[in-house]
Amino acid sequence: MSQVVIAGGGTVGLATAVFLGQHGIPALVVERRTRPSVHPRALGISPRTLELFRSAGLSEAIDAVAVRSAVPGKADARTVAEIDRTQPSRAPRFAGGDLSPETPRGHYSQDRLDSVLLPAARERGATIEFGVAVTGVEQDAEGVDVELSDGRTVRADYLIGADGVNTAVRGGLGIGTTGPGEIGDPTLNILFGADLVGHFGSMPMMIEISHPDAPGMLLAVGEGRWVFHTKPPADGRFTDETCAATIRTALGADVPLEVISVLPWRATIRMADQFRSGRAFLVGDAARAISPLGAFGLNTGIADAHNLAWKLAMVVTGKAGDRLLDSYHEERHAIAEMVTEQAMLRLANPRLHWDPAAVAERTAAGAWYAPMVTMGYRYESSAVMGPVPPLPSTEDVVASLDGAPGSRLRHRWIAGVSTLDLVGPGFTLLTGSGEWDDAARALDLPVMRIGGDWPESVGIDDTGALLVRPDAFIAWRSLKADADTLPAVLAAVTGRKNGAVG
Ligand SMILES: Cc1cc2nc3c(=O)[nH]c(=O)nc-3n(C[C@H](O)[C@H](O)[C@H](O)COP(=O)(O)OP(=O)(O)OC[C@H]3O[C@@H](n4cnc5c(N)ncnc54)[C@H](O)[C@@H]3O)c2cc1C
Repeated sequence: MSQVVIAGGGTVGLATAVFLGQHGIPALVVERRTRPSVHPRALGISPRTLELFRSAGLSEAIDAVAVRSAVPGKADARTVAEIDRTQPSRAPRFAGGDLSPETPRGHYSQDRLDSVLLPAARERGATIEFGVAVTGVEQDAEGVDVELSDGRTVRADYLIGADGVNTAVRGGLGIGTTGPGEIGDPTLNILFGADLVGHFGSMPMMIEISHPDAPGMLLAVGEGRWVFHTKPPADGRFTDETCAATIRTALGADVPLEVISVLPWRATIRMADQFRSGRAFLVGDAARAISPLGAFGLNTGIADAHNLAWKLAMVVTGKAGDRLLDSYHEERHAIAEMVTEQAMLRLANPRLHWDPAAVAERTAAGAWYAPMVTMGYRYESSAVMGPVPPLPSTEDVVASLDGAPGSRLRHRWIAGVSTLDLVGPGFTLLTGSGEWDDAARALDLPVMRIGGDWPESVGIDDTGALLVRPDAFIAWRSLKADADTLPAVLAAVTGRKNGAVG
C-alpha cells in the first residue's frame, strides 16, 4: 500500500485524511501542534462543503456540531445592548432545496469540525501524530523523503502539504508565490465564555459592532462561547484584561466573562504558483490564502482536499494514470484565482456579499453570487472532456448546473435520494437508457438509470448520458447514445491515454 504523508493536521489536513481513508488509503498525518487548535476561526461552511462531508458519511456527525441560534443571520448595532430587536436580522440565504441536498444549519467552527474529522480520519485508517513537524523535503522520481522534527525521515510515495499559510512543504519544494501577502490591519480574534443569552435574551449569530472604542464582529460559536474580532490597542499590546474590557465596551454591559484564548492575525492573500510538484501537492492555505470576507478560505481548502484525494486514490490503486494528478493543479489553481478575485471584490465592497439582492452592483463589479463561488463554477482540465461552455450566469446557480461538462451534477431528489448520492467512489454513468449497459459493464463502470424529465434537465435526450466523477462533477456529456466512444473518453479523463477521443 502506498504511503501518503500529510503535513499539517488542521481542518484541511484532517479532511484530506478522511477523504483518502474513504478510498482505503491510510495516510500518516504529522501535526506540529501538540493537540488540535481550540480556536474556532472559520465558521461559515457552504452547502458544497457539507456535500463533501456527506459523501464521506459524515452528514449527521457534522450536523451535530453545528451551532444554531434562535435568531439566525447578522445584526448591526453600536453595542449588543443597543440591538434593535424589533428589526429582523439580515441573513444571506445561501442554501436552497433545489441546489443541494445539504443546508447549513448555523456556524461550524473549525474546532468543532476538527472534533469530528480527527476520529473520522482515524476510523478510516489514518495515523495522526501530534507534536511532530515537517522540517525538510527531498524528492526523486520514486518517492519523497520527509524529514521530521523528531529526527525521523519518512520515505513516502506522496506528500501533501496541508501546513497552512507559512507552509514548510511549499518552501521545501521551492514553489514560488504571488499575491500581496499580509493585507489590511492587524486583528485580534478573541475567544471568550459568557452567558450572553442569559443576560441579553436571544442573540443573532453575528453582530457587527460599531462602537468607536470597540469596533468588530461578535460571533456565536456555541456552548456559551463567543468570538470577538476586533482591532488591537494602538500600541499593539494586549492582555486578557484589556481584551475583556474591549468586549465589555462592545457588549455595552458589565457581563461576567472569561477570555479563553486570543489569536492575533492578519488577512493574507498569497497563492502558490504550482499546486503540484512531482509527488508533492499543496492543499488549503498552503496552496493559497485568501481574505476572509466571503468565508471562502476553509471551503476552498476542503474542496482542494476532496479533489486531490479521489485522484490520488485512483492513481495509487491503478485505476488512473499519473496525468490525472496534473488536473489537480489545473482545476484547483484556476478556482483559487477565481475565489481570490471574488474575495478581493468583497473586501472592497462588503455589500456585494452580504446583500443577496445587490445583483446589479455585483454584475457591474464582476462579483459572483456567493453560491456560484462555492458550487456553480466549472472545471476545464484534462479530467473533463470539453468543450466546457461558458457559465450562463454568475447569479443563477440552478441555471449554471445544467449538465454541462465541467459543472457539478444538478441535485434532484428522486424517491428520497439525491442524484449526488448516486455518484460512487469511482466514475458513474447516469443515463435514461439501457443502450450503454454493455459498454459500461465491460469497463466496470456503474450505471444509474434515471428517466422521466431528468435527461432533458441536464441537456441530453433519452438515450444520452453523463459520465460523472467521484466529486459529482461531470466529466463528459453525451447528448445521445454513443457507447462506442465511452472507453476512449474514460481513458482520457482518467489520464490513461493522451490525446483526442474520436
Ligand atoms: C480569524 C480567522 C477567521 C477565519 N474565518 C473564516 C471563515 O469564516 N470561513 C472560511 O472559509 N475561512 C476562514 N478563515 C480561514 C480559515 O481558517 C483557513 O482557510 C483554514 O484554517 C485553512 O485550513 P488549513 O488546514 O489549510 O490551514 P491551517 O488551519 O493553518 O492548518 C495548518 C496546520 O498545519 C500545522 N503545521 C504548520 N506547519 C507545519 C509543519 N511544518 N509540520 C507539520 N504541521 C505543520 C499547523 O499547526 C496547523 O495545525 C479564517 C481564518 C482566521 C485566522
